[in-house]
Amino acid sequence: MCSDTTRSLSAIASDNDYDPNSMPVAKARDYIRAFLTPVKTVERVHLRAALGRVLAQPVRSTINVPSHDNSAMDGYAFRFSDLEAGTESTLKVVGSSFAGKPFPGAVGSREAVRIMTGGVMPSGCDTVVMQERVRAAEGRVHVPAGQQQGANVRYAGGDIKSGEVVFEPGQIVLPAELGMIASLGIGEVSVYRRLRVAFFSTGDELVPIGGTLASGQIYDSNRYTIYGMLTRLGVDAIDMGAIRDDPSAIEGAFVQAAQAADVVITSGGVSVGEADFVKQMLAKLGDVLFWKIAMKPGRPLAFGKIGQAHFFGLPGNPVSAMVTFYEFVREALLVLMGVPQPRPLPTLKAVCTSAVKKAPGRTEFQRGVLEQGSDGQWTVRVTGDQSSGILSSMSRADCFIVLPDAQGNTPAGATVDVQLLAGLI
Ligand code: AMP
Ligand code: MG
Repeated sequence: MCSDTTRSLSAIASDNDYDPNSMPVAKARDYIRAFLTPVKTVERVHLRAALGRVLAQPVRSTINVPSHDNSAMDGYAFRFSDLEAGTESTLKVVGSSFAGKPFPGAVGSREAVRIMTGGVMPSGCDTVVMQERVRAAEGRVHVPAGQQQGANVRYAGGDIKSGEVVFEPGQIVLPAELGMIASLGIGEVSVYRRLRVAFFSTGDELVPIGGTLASGQIYDSNRYTIYGMLTRLGVDAIDMGAIRDDPSAIEGAFVQAAQAADVVITSGGVSVGEADFVKQMLAKLGDVLFWKIAMKPGRPLAFGKIGQAHFFGLPGNPVSAMVTFYEFVREALLVLMGVPQPRPLPTLKAVCTSAVKKAPGRTEFQRGVLEQGSDGQWTVRVTGDQSSGILSSMSRADCFIVLPDAQGNTPAGATVDVQLLAGLI
């Protein structure tokens, strides 16, 4: 499904197989993907400030990297045509070429230059022999037979050629990109402005940290997991607090959030029973769809637009909020940040050492722990109780075990798909 900004969200209700009450995970992702309008504003930033940002313009090299032919080894540079065929050759050492200190002269016939890794190839030389291969004494070097012309030479432009586009727009700048851009001598780049994401929790039972819990109350933890996940992605996270289950308070929060941000994320208030007044309100404020996703945990999810802002209504259960964030929101935010084809969470196969009970017809995301056996093989086990309120098992997990729709009970020893969360939680 390609981007479809002209169609209203509510129009997808007329799609043939649209069923908001049993929405497959992949289909929900496709619908979300079709209604995203990425940030367009561009700003110039100093290279270091570009870390974690998304390039808005191509980075083009104005130099060759490396800039000169140079040696890949410590050894001796000479011209290959000076060597005698099939026997040792003796050359006179006339100087040295160190990294940053080239040999100034020209190299004559049957002459060699001591050269270190990165040293500029002296003019006239075309080959380097490793120092371990030669005997050197009294200003001479004895080069054994069997050399290859051009050996151990790195050529100018061998890594990057002048004029080459090194990074395309949409590239996230990570440490290797910082280094690459620096290696071209470029000190400023054009990036998209940071995405602004406003988020709030809903629920009469929520107490902010620092408060005291009365009976039936809980501390508001979702605002912290969501803050963490957003900050890791490199967006501007705007915390709008916890809002009571009161229509006018929630309406006020939605209006304010949609004005302040490109994206509004809420937790709680989209499950059956609670959804009704939120639904009516959002129908008034924007174009929002309420889905029951065929997945566990994380069934209820709202998605749409409030004014110009994109909206994700996550379930209130702490684990459901995290799973839906990783499975739907993360990728969507990357697209909105300017990454056209974000890489999905890395997925690999591992043998699951736990038996898992599962009903076919929905995708399950079990919290798992990867372990490497003494044979080097990776296995995965579930973290125990998989209720959607048990955040401690999310904290123990380093992956999701993804059991696809069609799968039923899974015996211990089965090979399963595992999504890596390392660095994300
Ligand atoms: P809801 O989706 O609002 O029906 O909430 C589902 C469950 O998640 C309830 O047990 C809530 O108390 C809990 N919950 C909702 N919001 C939060 C929050 N911000 N932090 C922790 N738990 C929450
Ligand atoms: Mg609630």
